[in-house]
Amino acid sequence: MTFAHGRAMVERAAGLGVEIVELASDRLNLGLPDDPRRAYTAAKSTLAVVVAPPSKRKLQPIAPSADWRVDLAEGCPAHCSYCYLAGSLKGPPITRVYANLDEILDGLPAYLGQGTITSRSRDRAQEGTTFEASCYTDPLALEPITGSLSHMIDWFGRWDVPAQLRFTTKFADVAPLLDIDHQRRTRMRASINPRLFARFEGGTAPVADRLAALRRMALAGYPVGLTIAPIIAAPGWRDAYGELLADAGAMLADVPGLDLTIELITHRFTSGSKAVLDSWYPGSTLDMGEANRTTKRTKFGTEKQVYDAETMRELRRFFEERLASTLPFARILYWT
Ligand code: SF4
Repeated sequence: MTFAHGRAMVERAAGLGVEIVELASDRLNLGLPDDPRRAYTAAKSTLAVVVAPPSKRKLQPIAPSADWRVDLAEGCPAHCSYCYLAGSLKGPPITRVYANLDEILDGLPAYLGQGTITSRSRDRAQEGTTFEASCYTDPLALEPITGSLSHMIDWFGRWDVPAQLRFTTKFADVAPLLDIDHQRRTRMRASINPRLFARFEGGTAPVADRLAALRRMALAGYPVGLTIAPIIAAPGWRDAYGELLADAGAMLADVPGLDLTIELITHRFTSGSKAVLDSWYPGSTLDMGEANRTTKRTKFGTEKQVYDAETMRELRRFFEERLASTLPFARILYWT
């Protein structure tokens, strides 16, 4: 491994007692079992330290979350039965973490001042050019082994320009991030769902811990946010989300100088992601049937299943009213 950041990850993993296998080439030959369940388990417990090639370092726009997507890894060790990665990453769900993080960061200045989100939205213009690190992974889930998120936060803290690093997470161990000189150029969001739906989020931190972690980050001066995602219109959703928003309000209301945003993302899937998720989580009770659904064509010409107009209206009205009463100090960034 020629990259110091990659070597540090391998050493950290070895220190934690993880079995290390060095490959002679950059082709991953994992020798996964034929049985799909065992192959899934083996893949989810494998972390590959790889070098991001130039094609992966070319950033893509990622509305509505941010101007640009920047990846420090691909894949996630958790087991959410709606995971959006099922539709965007191909092959067995191993996690690849990038050893050449400094090369990735060196590419960012070329994108400064470009992007549509912050230039078109008056609300978000003060954040500068925004870079989202959670599109293909949960960066905090990997932090104990990679240190990549801390490295990026520190790098953005020293990058004295109008720019913002963004990440969202279903994990809660923020201790390594609290003392970084972040200069308020990183916004952490907690990705949350009610306790009622915890059964769909295997391997993640309890939602109460995620809210407590967000509070610690806010007290450490970070801008913060809530990603309420995916919003699931299953029986009991009103009471469940009402309780969740009340808990979030109670957790954050007294934080001095709080800068809190809200992102609201309803549950959706494609026929491709549904097929993958059905194979990964055959016992899941997450509803991906046709009731309450309608087909939406994306700008890329693909189709996804979203809630129908009436369900969407009901959900949206509920969230707008309830957020106004429980988190009146928050800014809603978008609903989708
Ligand atoms: Fe997927 Fe996020 Fe769950 Fe990881 S935490 S499995 S990335 S939905």
